[in-house]
Amino acid sequence: MAYKTINPYTNETLKTYENTTDAELETALATGHHRYQAWRQDAPATRQATLHKIAVLMRTEKHALATILTTEMGKLIGEAEAEVDLCADIADYFAEHGADMLQPTPLATSAGKAYYAKQAVGILVMVEPWNFPYYQIMRVFAPNYVVGNPMILKHASNTPSSAAAFADVVKRAGAPAGSLTNLFISYDQVSAAIADKRVAGVALTGSERGGAAVAKEAGVNLKKSTMELGGNDAFIILDDADWDLVKAVAPQARLFNNGQVCSASKRFIVMADHYDDFLAYLKSEFAKVKPGDPLDPATTLAPMNSKRAKQKLQKQVDAAVAAGAKVYAGNQPIDLPGQFFQPTILTDITPANPAFDEEMFGPVAAVYKVNTEAEAIALANNSSYGLGSTVFSSDPAHADRVAQQLEAGMTTINRAWITAPELPFGGVKHSGYGRELYQLGLNAFVNEHLIINA
Ligand code: NAP
Repeated sequence: MAYKTINPYTNETLKTYENTTDAELETALATGHHRYQAWRQDAPATRQATLHKIAVLMRTEKHALATILTTEMGKLIGEAEAEVDLCADIADYFAEHGADMLQPTPLATSAGKAYYAKQAVGILVMVEPWNFPYYQIMRVFAPNYVVGNPMILKHASNTPSSAAAFADVVKRAGAPAGSLTNLFISYDQVSAAIADKRVAGVALTGSERGGAAVAKEAGVNLKKSTMELGGNDAFIILDDADWDLVKAVAPQARLFNNGQVCSASKRFIVMADHYDDFLAYLKSEFAKVKPGDPLDPATTLAPMNSKRAKQKLQKQVDAAVAAGAKVYAGNQPIDLPGQFFQPTILTDITPANPAFDEEMFGPVAAVYKVNTEAEAIALANNSSYGLGSTVFSSDPAHADRVAQQLEAGMTTINRAWITAPELPFGGVKHSGYGRELYQLGLNAFVNEHLIINA
């Protein structure tokens, strides 16, 4: 049984789940296809009420839903509650705007009265990671529910209880059978589902490796896909940065969700004059964390999501050090049974170091010293990833000029990373392709059906 809930704070196995059989997968596909055919007859507006109801249920049951996240993947309870709120906001946003976004678009042409309709395409396979177990599902679920694309969910093998809880909320809100079917399927079954002719596309959020494997299956079967993959985001502090602002934002930009965020700031790029001060400040802030029970609101350092994740991060830090990086702070064991990793700062990472172009998915900050702005931009762009980035300057026009030169899908200026229903999310290069949220997310799996009426 691959799907298990193991509390990373206590290391206790709380629940195991039977794998989905091939016959159960077939039933899910048949039910999803039936749902697709039924939804083709209904206007999107008929689905808005259910999405609102999902938002209401999530807000009403916030603490219970958040507790499932915390006990299953370890995040701080406050962060878990914020995730539930964000999911409710996304559901409300698509309930409110989805039908308008699907209005036909008229086209000016001499060929006749022309427009394109935006129609559902069929069942989607959704493959999601453990780091924001509800939010990652909601980013795909809410827009596609309005569009009328039924969904089959394969969640991470270490967050099955979160997946089950999400599917249960959807069901209790009144969504009909086949709207969202949560399955505990193997990689081979994911491939079989993608190949099935009733399936129209696949949306994956996860690692570069998982994304490449699933994108390959989609490609071979000529199915559309969106890939939301890893990042190694730069946090650029320009000479004219407002230091109070930098200090207010930098530590949490790395430590939020225990550093397990695709679009967390992972590489801090600092001008030489400020480098030493910045390092000292980050070290003092990282030293303030209080490791403990993530269900206790006083705790500020949660365990990592699993033993495997902690071991992988330790291996990456060890390899970085072996290749010449210096540990400026952290990297000491924490004397608690859970999967804790002390917030760590690495410096002196050269381009030859494996850490230079690897995503470190946990509380490890890489800090780089540069002498010129051009060097800062070149360093930020010297990455196989291109997800987010952050620029600090007290001159907004200056920051904007720098932001425009960054190879990234998203850049924030003078503020921390943010996600909201009305802001498109996604990257370039090995961070993937396609966008989630906002109208762009809703467009990902629609048939833009051209109709010309002469
Ligand atoms: P992962 O190993 O790729 O897993 C993500 C999901 O893909 C899981 O459900 C996993 O299933 C599944 N999976 C992996 N390989 C597969 C295959 N060959 N066939 C079918 N399914 C497969 O990713 P992770 O390391 O757990 O998650 C963290 C990564 O996600 C980080 O790189 C992070 O940056 C990225 N991420 C990106 C975004 C974004 O929006 N760009 C958001 C959040 C996270 P199992 O659990 O069963 O292996």
